[in-house]
Order: sequence, then C-alpha cells, then structure tokens
Amino acid sequence: MIEDKNQGRTSLSELGEFGLINHLTQYFKIKNPATVKGVGDDAAVLEASEKQTLVTTDLLIEGVHFDLSYMPLKHLGYKAVMVNLSDVYAMNGEAEQITVSIAVSNRFTLEALEALYAGIQLACDTYKVDLVGGDTTSSNKGILISVTAIGKANKGDVVYRSGAKETDLIVVSGDLGAAYLGLQVLEREKQVFQVNPNNQPDLDQYTYLIERQLKPEARKDVPGLLKELEVKPTSMIDISDGLSSEIMHVCSQSKKGCKIYEDKIPLDPQVISTCEEFNLDSTMIALSGGEDYELLFTVSIDDFEKVKGNPNFSIIGHITAEDQGMNLVTRANQEIELKAQGWNALKEE
Ligand SMILES: [Mg+2]
Repeated sequence: MIEDKNQGRTSLSELGEFGLINHLTQYFKIKNPATVKGVGDDAAVLEASEKQTLVTTDLLIEGVHFDLSYMPLKHLGYKAVMVNLSDVYAMNGEAEQITVSIAVSNRFTLEALEALYAGIQLACDTYKVDLVGGDTTSSNKGILISVTAIGKANKGDVVYRSGAKETDLIVVSGDLGAAYLGLQVLEREKQVFQVNPNNQPDLDQYTYLIERQLKPEARKDVPGLLKELEVKPTSMIDISDGLSSEIMHVCSQSKKGCKIYEDKIPLDPQVISTCEEFNLDSTMIALSGGEDYELLFTVSIDDFEKVKGNPNFSIIGHITAEDQGMNLVTRANQEIELKAQGWNALKEE
C-alpha cells in the first residue's frame, strides 16, 4: 500500500538531464509511420496528412490529482497517458503520438522514474502510440506530470460536444462509478494502514474498483465499433469528471436539454455491493464520481436499432429542447434537475 522504500536508490543527479531522458526513453520503439523523428533532436518531426490533427494536454500534480501512497508510479505513468488518449478518442479520432514532461523533487530516485516510464511505455505499446518528446526538470516538492497527445481524424469523422440534436439518444460505453469507489476503498485502507501498519488489507472483493482507479483503459475501441455499426455520433465527450457534468457540457454546447433515466445507468455489481457497504447512493457515484474514462455520446434516434442491445453500450436517455432543462428521471419516476455536482442535486431531495 505504501511507497516502496527498498527500491534502488540511484540519485538523479548522477545522470544529468540529457542522460536522464536518454536513459528513460531508450526502450521506446517508434510504431507509427507518421512519426518521422521521435525523441533525440530539438523537435519531433511528424508527417503531415490530409486528416485533421487533434491535440490535447493534461497536467497531473501530486497531492492534487494523485496520492503516491497508493498509486504506484508505474500505474501513474500508465494513467497519465490514458487520460489524454481518452480525449483523442472522444473526438472520434486515433491517437498516434504523445509527449511527456515531468518535474520531480530529489526525493525521487532513478529507479522510481524507471517505474513511471515503464507505465508510460506499457501504455504506448498497448495503444500503439509513439513517445516523441518532452522535458524533465526538478521541482521543489513532489512530482508533476504533463502529457500531450496528438491524434488524427478524417475531417468528416470528428465529433464535437456541440452536435447533439433534439430526440437524439444518449449513450455511454462500459459502466460508471467504479473508479471513484476504488479511490474510496484505497483511501479507507490508507487510513487503516496509518493506524495499524501490520494490518493486511483484504481487497479481493474490490478488485474491479481498484483496477478502474489505478489502471483505467481509454476506449480506443469505441470509434472503431461505431464505424462498424455505421453510426456517427452527433456529439461525444469522455467521462472524466462524472456523468452529470459531462452531459451538461454536451447539452450546454449543443444548446439542448436532456432526460436521463436512473435505472438505465450501467453499474458493475461491485459498484452496487460496495455502495451498500459504504452507505453511498450508486446513482450519485455514477453522476459525480469521475475518472471512468468511458465515452458518452449521442446518436440519431434512427440509429436506435444499431446501438440497442450492443454489450458495449447503454442507452441512458435522450436529448430534449433546451427549455426542458437537464433532468434525471429517478426509479420512483420523479424528475430531478441535474447539477454540475449531481451529488448535491440528489442530497437536496
Ligand atoms: Mg475530456
């Protein structure tokens, strides 16, 4: 559960900045023909194409976005890549390159950074993206990691948040809420550990939740699945901050309202059982939890037959006129206005 204090202790100053970048990136192989030159010159060189280029960046800061007492560095590296790839897939594109910049304090050893880069490399290999650049520098405190992802999509394939139309169906991939609950489990175990370091936690019943928190997978497959189904979403966004705020982004940018149905929100059985144990409302968790990295999209009602019954997708509601507002229909058939924090909306009930 805690940072491994017994790993090797090679000080970063022994390598210097250039030695460090070369050392950390030496096993990365270029996979995409569009990557002409990766790490090793003043700038990376990418082949231009007729497609449109997608660029997205995320910055993760220790103590704000992650806690290294239960987030192993290898997982942190993997997740930092996932959150960016997820944004490229949310545009209905393909990710091809990333850059990674880190700032680290002298508390981190070379071995710690090797673990971080092992996670980044696993993500690159699994998702077929090339690491083409970045920077390393020192920070006064903690670790900060910034990843930029570069992707491509045919001009006609790019899907924006703003395209949802009245009567469109609202669809989500996968299931929701597990990553947030995984975090709650890890937080609880951290507190138990602080009180009694000899306590060995039994986390078997939370495996899926913890995996969703520590090793999320971006939905690279969804743009391809939609293409196979011959469905072009009218709008799309990835679910990083919770279903509620993502639906609100789509609705406000499309100038529409929505109705989503509580009983249609996809939940894993572990989410349901753990919510019972923690005395939490599973709908609130799905609406406000975040970090699921599933995709939320809208499709024309004419595509209902193509999407219906697909095991990857759940139809959770539909788009309405803007003046209808953004609402959740509960199991008791009550309509509740969605708030940026769905949590509060339900609490006020
Ligand atoms: Mg996003």
